[in-house]
Amino acid sequence: MSLFKTLETNTESKNDISDGLPVERVKCLIIGSGPAGYTAAIYAARANLSPLLVKGIQPGGQLTTTTDVENYPGYPQGITGPKMMEDLEKQAARFGTDIRWGIATRVNFSRSPYKVVIDEKQVIEADTVIIATGATARYLGMESEDKFRGSGVSACATCDGFFYRGMDVAVVGGGDTACEEALYLAGMCRKVYLIVRKNFLRASVIMQQRVFNAPNIEVLFERNTKELLGNQVVQEAVLIRRQGQPDESEERIKIDGFFLAIGHTPNSDIFKTFLETDETGYIKTIPGTPRTSVPGVFACGDVQDKVYRQAVTAAGSGCQAAIEAERYLAQR
Ligand code: FAD
Ligand code: NAP
Repeated sequence: MSLFKTLETNTESKNDISDGLPVERVKCLIIGSGPAGYTAAIYAARANLSPLLVKGIQPGGQLTTTTDVENYPGYPQGITGPKMMEDLEKQAARFGTDIRWGIATRVNFSRSPYKVVIDEKQVIEADTVIIATGATARYLGMESEDKFRGSGVSACATCDGFFYRGMDVAVVGGGDTACEEALYLAGMCRKVYLIVRKNFLRASVIMQQRVFNAPNIEVLFERNTKELLGNQVVQEAVLIRRQGQPDESEERIKIDGFFLAIGHTPNSDIFKTFLETDETGYIKTIPGTPRTSVPGVFACGDVQDKVYRQAVTAAGSGCQAAIEAERYLAQR
């Protein structure tokens, strides 16, 4: 039995999305320029698939928003995120990837060749499509959060926790991710505050138990973050206790790092009519493979991975996607 259910959409009627736009035919289209997209491009180009890669609204992907990357293999001294992505782009270009500015705005995967509209100006018809559009971490939306992004504010404890060892930090959120991030940070930081807006954790019981048993995690229930204070880096968080209640009060905690763990949004909206996604929007793939519910359309990196969300895992799945695309074309 197929892993995927049949999507009940009249996709056939949406087959013509060309709208008179100029059409270009390619063997392999890669959507996204993060570690997954560029790695897929390196493999696809070396396999003579002449890939076309469109960069999207965030050329280089999420890593361009961070400073040091210390956990990507091959860089003993670490590397900055923007430099790493520049190098990946050069490596993909070296083997002949056609790298272009552009945003995929609409798709039609009802039949091969698959159609993807770029910037509402052009249609790319592709024998294979590799989706590497990533995910976007959710932030609270405070001005001070933007100001300190990369200087105390992070949405990835696994990535940035190391920079806060021996220090005091806070994690926002009450789900499994927040508990996991808090526990990870508790292993290296002096103190971890878990800031939860409700009076209970949404996380699974086992994660809650682990959090409550950790001696250096303090759970602050019924707290919302008002703002972050500091000079060059975060030094304090201003919290509102029992916001909107008669006994509402304000308090401050001294922290060096502020970690968001309130969820991610996978960048999958334009594909949902044609590809199966889970309840939170992640593209479903056959476990251990980048294969989606449409043969010849592959998904790699954070857009299909809500568990690991690392550059190296994104790159690894980009490699898998390109190998699968090559095999798919060879077997047709
Ligand atoms: P992304 O990097 O998210 O790239 C997605 C790409 O898709 C972008 O280029 C975007 O422009 C493009 N795109 C999206 N929609 C469209 C569209 N419609 N049309 C065309 N293109 C589109 N991981 C580590 O391993 N180590 C770290 O130290 C580390 N630090 C991090 C620090 C921060 C602040 C953040 C936010 C993340 C960090 N990560 C780190 C996680 C890592 O960045 C991600 O796991 C990784 O970038 C995911 O790669 P990706 O290629 O799947 O997607
Ligand atoms: P989640 O379950 O949706 O939890 C998000 C948390 O962030 C909730 O506690 C929510 O508060 C809080 N939040 C959202 N917006 C907020 C805001 N503006 N201000 C303050 N708090 C806010 O997301 P997740 O923890 O990332 O988990 C996603 C899925 O992955 C879940 O199904 C989870 O079980 C799974 N997962 C599992 C594991 C594991 O099993 N080890 C690990 C990670 C993730 P409210 O509760 O008040 O809404």
